[in-house]
Amino acid sequence: MENQNSLRQILRRIDKKGYKAYKEIKGQYRFPDFLLFIDHVQGDPFAAPSKIRVRVPMQKAEIPNDLIQHPHRRSGTADAIIRIIHGEIRKIARMRRGTGKSGLISIDVGGQEIIPRSALKITDSFVEARMEIGLPARGRTVLSDEAEAMFFDELPRIIQNSMFRKNFDQEFVTRFAYYVQNYFAVQKQLKSKNLIAFIADRSVLPRESGVSQKPMPINDAVPFRSPRELKVKMELPNPVNGQTFIEGAGIPAGITLIVGGGFHGKSTLLQALESGVYPHIPGDGREYVVTNPAAVKIRAEDGRRIEKVDIRPFINHLPRQKDARSFCTDDASGSTSQAANIIEALETGAEALLVDEDTSATNFMIRDARMQALVHKQFEPITPFIDRIREMYDRFGVSTVLVMGGSGDYFQAADTVILMKEYVPQVVTEQARAIAEQFKTERRPEREFEWKTITERAPLPQSFDASKGKKEVKIEARGLHSVQFGTHTIDLRQVEQIVDISQTRAIGFALHFIARRWMDGQRTIRELMDLAETFLLKEGTDGLNPFRRDDEHPGNFALPRRFEIAAALNRYRGLKVRQKEE
Ligand code: ADP
Ligand code: MG
Repeated sequence: MENQNSLRQILRRIDKKGYKAYKEIKGQYRFPDFLLFIDHVQGDPFAAPSKIRVRVPMQKAEIPNDLIQHPHRRSGTADAIIRIIHGEIRKIARMRRGTGKSGLISIDVGGQEIIPRSALKITDSFVEARMEIGLPARGRTVLSDEAEAMFFDELPRIIQNSMFRKNFDQEFVTRFAYYVQNYFAVQKQLKSKNLIAFIADRSVLPRESGVSQKPMPINDAVPFRSPRELKVKMELPNPVNGQTFIEGAGIPAGITLIVGGGFHGKSTLLQALESGVYPHIPGDGREYVVTNPAAVKIRAEDGRRIEKVDIRPFINHLPRQKDARSFCTDDASGSTSQAANIIEALETGAEALLVDEDTSATNFMIRDARMQALVHKQFEPITPFIDRIREMYDRFGVSTVLVMGGSGDYFQAADTVILMKEYVPQVVTEQARAIAEQFKTERRPEREFEWKTITERAPLPQSFDASKGKKEVKIEARGLHSVQFGTHTIDLRQVEQIVDISQTRAIGFALHFIARRWMDGQRTIRELMDLAETFLLKEGTDGLNPFRRDDEHPGNFALPRRFEIAAALNRYRGLKVRQKEE
């Protein structure tokens, strides 16, 4: 460990030299209040910025035990501190100091969700921020004065204001910490109350616009109000406004139908449930929209690849003897893709499916009496969702929340029917049942056989090759919904519960990690995801980077769910699997 002055000396020595001279500053330096680790130095001013870590000993950071002993509180605290660092960077860092990324200082901050991320690590002995810094240059020559200003003025000020309890807004951090603990406490109560989701009264569900996840302004939004029939109380470990509980609507396990006129808020409600698998930042409006963590959005996704999925519960007797027990395609249709998405979700351990008519294949959802009369079942491979929805719950315990404004055929199937009327939910289960009695449909159930098992699959490790050209491992997130994996691009555009590009990056690396560590052609996807989930919960995402030495900036990761890792695995076009016997 060098003294901070050594860094200053090196910088002065390499002034005006070629950019490569910056490589010399790689190392560890002791500053008065923190340790600076320069782990990776970029090759030129346009390359990915250099990676640094700033470690503040806990004796100096003085984060109260109250905020970090409980793991959920710790996670909220970490997220809040990242946001404070981010805010200080914006206030203090001058940013543009030359060519390319010169002058940039950044930390990987989250959006509306609070997701454990690698950007900040809190242990009992230190707080460590993992950051990026663009080493300044004019053209390709080192600008020492600018670099000195970054390391010796901007960075220490940013750190001073954000990583020491005595300087940061303790109320802000406490709010995050207590809230995250509350969120998970509510999530835990869902099971014992036989619910799959909870939506607190006064939640603000609609978003600002189709391209912004910020809340709709409070004057425009109609706040959520639970119908009397669904009202439940959830205990809160940390009181909110002096109350130790919170009231709202409980969505029961089983089959829930959301009906209502177009533009009355059905999809908005479902989207809130999709995103309710994550906690949200205070002020988001969805803080206490809490969903079963194993709830998976299901949609049609034509064009996707499918590798040996047993889709027979939904699709059978395909033309030209195409095999539905081991269904493969490089270009799925709407209905086959939706069928595969469901089977794969169940295979991965989903406990609830979230389905919206807006993004479903019509012929997968309904086949009415008239169509049954015209097109004989013998020539219709599809068993529509309506004929399996009950069985999925009764046999596999998988609930469904379905938005369906277009067909009353589902009335019989539903345990709960919620009507959205001008954004206000009402329970209309009894009326729907009465109508189903009064207007008998001639539709016949088309379930051909009992759905007894889900045919599991074991991925083959040799099908995962992350190499590209000279690079042994080439994995990169290319935007929120695309991963480059070796020579392949994994298209995740329709995997809607990925909410953070650092999750996308983690998913790419997780595939490689899982393939190398646990895939053996025997373990099923479910077993692999169990192992991955346990590993990530225990170790965090730091270990995913295959190049990282123990004490180094790990790269920017945010924790993905098993369902999104499996979704990427299933969409990887190189995937080969062995199907298990039934
Ligand atoms: P549906 O699926 O029933 O057709 P959407 O959920 O797509 O309707 O909502 C239609 C519009 O209403 C959207 O622009 C949405 O932002 C807005 N909206 C939804 N819920 C609310 C609400 N609670 N308050 C105000 N506007 C809302
Ligand atoms: Mg809709």
